[in-house]
Amino acid sequence: MKVCIFGGTFNPIHTGHLIMAQAALDAYGLDKVVFVPCYLPPHKGAGGVTPAADRLAMVKAAVAGNKRFGISDIEIARGGRSYSIDTVRAFRTRMAPADKLFFLIGSDSMRDFHTWVAADELLKLCAFIVYERPGAPVRTSRRAGAAQRAMHLICEVPIGISSTEIREKVRRGESVRHLVPPAVERYIAKKSLYRR
Ligand code: ATP
Repeated sequence: MKVCIFGGTFNPIHTGHLIMAQAALDAYGLDKVVFVPCYLPPHKGAGGVTPAADRLAMVKAAVAGNKRFGISDIEIARGGRSYSIDTVRAFRTRMAPADKLFFLIGSDSMRDFHTWVAADELLKLCAFIVYERPGAPVRTSRRAGAAQRAMHLICEVPIGISSTEIREKVRRGESVRHLVPPAVERYIAKKSLYRR
């Protein structure tokens, strides 16, 4: 089994996330990409993060229908700041020794990877797959150094969609159609998320 963890705040999940997950599945012959919404993101301020229940509901709505996409609420159930190392260790203990564990990130996350808790151990426990993001070119990263060289880059067209942009558009009353799946668009409207 080849399983890939895809951790994120998913506030909200967007089409960019889904495209990069599918690209990882195809490029590395993965059996499953498991979306893991965090409880509190370690790198972002705690203030203003949409309730975990809403973010989880949107991830569920977005991945429904893709048999190779799964969801884990392990970080939400754990509470507190969500550190990937705790999640990766938990996944590893549940997997057979022959199973291979991957972790999907964007190139902006790759560039700050050296600040992640237990970065060296993470690199030993799973193989990182990196999807390049506009504004975070992979080659210019110097500080990531050896860690970056150990990661696998997906060569696809970078996608300029971010959760920040979606929250700002909703706040301005603009449409987010096609930037998020229809079910997520409906959820945002129904729950009046991101209005202010
Ligand atoms: P925000 O705008 O609120 O910072 P985000 O769009 O970066 O959110 P996250 O849920 O924080 O979304 O991202 C989860 C992971 O997905 C991170 O590793 C991030 O780098 C990656 N990611 C998100 N959007 C893209 C994208 N368009 N291209 C490549 N990677 C992305």
